[in-house]
Amino acid sequence: MVANLINLTINNKRISVPKGTTVQKAAGMAGYFIPVFCYDPELSVYGACRICVVEIIGMRNLAASCVTEAVEGMEVLTDSETVLEARRTILELILANHPMDCLTCDKTGDCRLQDYCFRYGVKGVDFSGQKANYLIEEDNPYIIRDMNKCILCGKCVRTCSQIRERSVIDFINRGFATKVAPAMDTSLGGSDCVYCNRCVSVCPVGALMSKPMAGKARVWEIKKETVVCSFCESGCTFQLNKKNNKVIGVSAGTSGTGRPLCLKGRLGMELLYCEQPETPQIKKGEGFEEASWEEALGLKGLLDKIKTLEDKQS
Ligand code: SF4
Ligand code: SF4
Ligand code: SF4
Repeated sequence: MVANLINLTINNKRISVPKGTTVQKAAGMAGYFIPVFCYDPELSVYGACRICVVEIIGMRNLAASCVTEAVEGMEVLTDSETVLEARRTILELILANHPMDCLTCDKTGDCRLQDYCFRYGVKGVDFSGQKANYLIEEDNPYIIRDMNKCILCGKCVRTCSQIRERSVIDFINRGFATKVAPAMDTSLGGSDCVYCNRCVSVCPVGALMSKPMAGKARVWEIKKETVVCSFCESGCTFQLNKKNNKVIGVSAGTSGTGRPLCLKGRLGMELLYCEQPETPQIKKGEGFEEASWEEALGLKGLLDKIKTLEDKQS
């Protein structure tokens, strides 16, 4: 045994990995796919979703591979019938409390739940029971939160606290009532959220979606272009989302140099790159009404007076 190297077999393939490597990472090094919901390389390990379970010969229960360290002589099976059956059951349990909304969901085509159901042949629900019935929250200009679609992976919570260092959201309640929300179960609009959209970029399902881009394009129609924000010296990277060569929105990347996008960068980039209305609008009562540029700039009264004076003189 070479010092600091561990020898194990994964699906009967011998592999050596550095000491401290998790089984999930070792499987990746050996070229085997393991599904993950709650794991993210930039976040602390959580081990909650269990979709990454594998069979380890000699171990009584299936092990969550993202939190299990590889040890010398370990024999791992990533796709045995027992493992596949466990993954199917986990997916069916998630679907038992999930809106079957894929036809109109903006996340279709980029949804891990959808992808894994396809991969493991889960077509429906064998379990029946209570379903969450939360109001869809869209009282802010940037994020739509549909907690009925949340699978409680906790990535948004860890992203907000560990990457963004704001801790705006956390798990609240217990059991079936568990959900992710700001303190006192207020909406994001009433919280300290700065709308960096970082949580949106890590959500594996359609529970968190970008509001400016909602309904504008299917994910396969969007081309992403990574750009560096020029509004300050931090060098944050973010993505321009383009459809038919037109920018339809700005989003925070899942990883990259610099700190996460701030609201100044987001708004500035949207103003720079996104199409703005050509006709100015003035707030009247509860809504907005189209107006001329003179009215919008507050010049209409002055121009009217000048015109009256000119009329009198002529
Ligand atoms: S979140 Fe995913 S699985 Fe759920 S409705 Fe949307 S696309 Fe379908
Ligand atoms: S948008 Fe940013 S600040 Fe707001 S909840 Fe998400 S990660 Fe936290
Ligand atoms: S909102 Fe999305 S990222 Fe957050 S816990 Fe739910 S599924 Fe995970």
